[in-house]
Amino acid sequence: MVCYSHSRISTFEQCKYKYKLQYIDKIKVEIPTTIEAFMGDLVHRTLEKLYSELQYQKINTLKTLLNFYNQLWDKEFSEDILIVKKDLTQDNYRKMGEKYLTLYYERNKPFDQMTILGLETEERMTLADGSEYHVRIDKLACKGDTYYVCDYKTNARMKDQDDVDSDRQLAMYSIWVKDKFRDAKKVILLWHMLAFDKDITSERNNKQLQTLMQDVVDTIEEIKLCKNWPTSTSALCNYCVYKNMCPSFKHELELESKTIREFKKDDGVKIVDELTEVESKLSDLGKRKEELHEDLINFSSQKGVDVVYGSNKKASVKQYSKIVYPEKMEEFIELLKENNIYDEVIMLCYPKLNSLILNNKCSKEIYKCITIDKAHRIYLSKKGKNENED
Ligand code: SF4
Repeated sequence: MVCYSHSRISTFEQCKYKYKLQYIDKIKVEIPTTIEAFMGDLVHRTLEKLYSELQYQKINTLKTLLNFYNQLWDKEFSEDILIVKKDLTQDNYRKMGEKYLTLYYERNKPFDQMTILGLETEERMTLADGSEYHVRIDKLACKGDTYYVCDYKTNARMKDQDDVDSDRQLAMYSIWVKDKFRDAKKVILLWHMLAFDKDITSERNNKQLQTLMQDVVDTIEEIKLCKNWPTSTSALCNYCVYKNMCPSFKHELELESKTIREFKKDDGVKIVDELTEVESKLSDLGKRKEELHEDLINFSSQKGVDVVYGSNKKASVKQYSKIVYPEKMEEFIELLKENNIYDEVIMLCYPKLNSLILNNKCSKEIYKCITIDKAHRIYLSKKGKNENED
């Protein structure tokens, strides 16, 4: 049975095509470990050692922990670990990890604020629709009937209150905590922001958790019914390990290996360049058309005529009544309903209906009445802009 997780659902929300490659086609790619991920992993493992041995009444000294961290570093660091910031070395990152551990240690010793219930959990919970969901908590702890779902973060960006109040990952875990530990009166979500020597917390009430559960179940339903896997380009594509096999970037990567001469001869380049030119001319012509309309209106009012003659065609200039509706339409719509004319004038909202149909939100009877064909939309946008086009 598929076990859903925060990262699996986030991938689907980010880009359906990426989700397909990763979770359905299960395409394996060499993913270089970044130095940030490497350091973060070692910091996690060092803190895991601290707390797991604490359960046996063994308090590791800071020196022992730093030795452990550095031994892991020496043993596991390899040259293929990616350091993107070229002016930094592995030593900078090693020291960053040491600093995070030291600050955390000094601020939290003797580590008796809470009772540890679990470390790096590998649990599963069953969601309202019967789906399985992965529960991986860095540190689960309690103090009386208050429970703590704790996450260590080695990010260089401090989370703010809005970030943690809208976080799904730990909030989902709190549903599992409430179910497993019935004495839990409070579940606090706690992020240890190690780079800033700060903690930030958030809580959810039962209603918020119900809504969250429903949202996750709805997304899982969408994943299960999904048959169309479009790409969604965004700034995150720069970190996507499937970029070189992605239809949104394949042509760009192909062009990168061409000489300027080959580039200019490429059929795709020629078509897009001509289309760009045509669109630009159309836009200029559109602006000129508006100016000519203005000129015609002025001409007709000055001359007192409503038809202006050219060599082969004539232009009629007729005044009409342009209705300006209220900005806030809600009350006006109510008024239309009260006057029994709403049903007569209401139109189908095709974008909304299309979205319901394509997201499998309609009944079988509706699907029997329609067919879904393949069609194309073409957008021109600046290269490298990575706008989300869906
Ligand atoms: S590169 Fe971007 S659009 Fe392509 S699969 Fe990855 S996330 Fe999706």
